[in-house]
Amino acid sequence: MENRIYNFSAGPAILPEAVLLDAQKDLYSYKGSGMSVMEMSHRGKIFDAIIKDAEADLRKLLDITDDYAVLFLQGGATLQFSMVPMNLMPPANKADYIHTGSWAKKAAKEAKRVGTVNVAASTESENFVRIPKQSELKLDSEASYVHFTSNNTIYGTQWRNEPEVGNVPLVCDASSDFLHKKIDIKKYALIYAGAQKNIGPAGVTVVIIRKDLLERSSDSLHTYMNYKIHVENDSMYNTPTTFGIYIAGLVFKWLLNMGGLDEMYKLNVEKAGILYNAIDSSNGYYRGTTAVEDRSLMNVTYRLPNEELEKKFIDEAKKKGFDGLKGHRSVGGIRASIYNAFPKKGVEELVKFMEEFRANNQ
Ligand SMILES: *Cc1c(COP(=O)(O)O)cnc(C)c1O
Repeated sequence: MENRIYNFSAGPAILPEAVLLDAQKDLYSYKGSGMSVMEMSHRGKIFDAIIKDAEADLRKLLDITDDYAVLFLQGGATLQFSMVPMNLMPPANKADYIHTGSWAKKAAKEAKRVGTVNVAASTESENFVRIPKQSELKLDSEASYVHFTSNNTIYGTQWRNEPEVGNVPLVCDASSDFLHKKIDIKKYALIYAGAQKNIGPAGVTVVIIRKDLLERSSDSLHTYMNYKIHVENDSMYNTPTTFGIYIAGLVFKWLLNMGGLDEMYKLNVEKAGILYNAIDSSNGYYRGTTAVEDRSLMNVTYRLPNEELEKKFIDEAKKKGFDGLKGHRSVGGIRASIYNAFPKKGVEELVKFMEEFRANNQ
């Protein structure tokens, strides 16, 4: 078998090897059915069991109770930027958005097409290097909801705890840190996440919505845009992304097998700790780009003394089998995305490479 590389891509991103091997085994003929998951009806018995299992396992991982619906939709997190306001903004037609990066801004942009957006806080003038403090949030108690982005994939910042929003429904874009730790679902009205970072392949979007909010979804909405329709049809109003849901289901089982999200979180803290420690103990050669207390466990962003060295670092790393380390084009520098599936060994190997590179390029 060909060797796998250390894949630090921000998304689509690494999947657990065990999941890939499992899927490979069943690709040609799924469990003796004589066809692959890609080739079977989404209304057939086999796929019905696959999607029900995936939902049940996700509910187990996050202790999701029956007052919440779980959806597997399409259109990425980007479609949720529109669906959230279209469904949840009325009747007050105003919502609070917390600007912590480009994705947060893009979410707000779509909300503005539906109603009034109050920017409850923004760290844009500081280049999004930190998460706003609770005391900085200017929240409107009459807002239809508060929207925040739990992990800022491009900048490498992450909320340690959810913003406190009182009785206003809390909506979260968790695309790049969903399932990295156990969260208290009860704090949320709606969580959405594109799958391609921490859940599965691109094409699936997970949405968890508290059912009482479905009352807000107007019958005049276009059918696909209406959460109520998707809930009533168990994510099968139209053909869902069957193969993506199947792989996401395998990832959920992988997480349960390794002991669940508390175990996953411990490992994530450990992995990120190894990398941040290497940055902090490099005598300023490597510089973290964000406020220390807001550092992301998923996307570790840092810089070298100059852009020339950064380019050299990325090129040499690539030759040694470390791929995807180039920072987002809008911010530059280095970004090591170390999602759930990224192995600890790969982080340790990267740190070794960083030490060698520093010694050779002082
Ligand atoms: C990647 C990303 C998105 C965009 O996701 P798509 O699936 O491409 O629409 C949105 N929000 C966050 C936080 C992301 O990391």
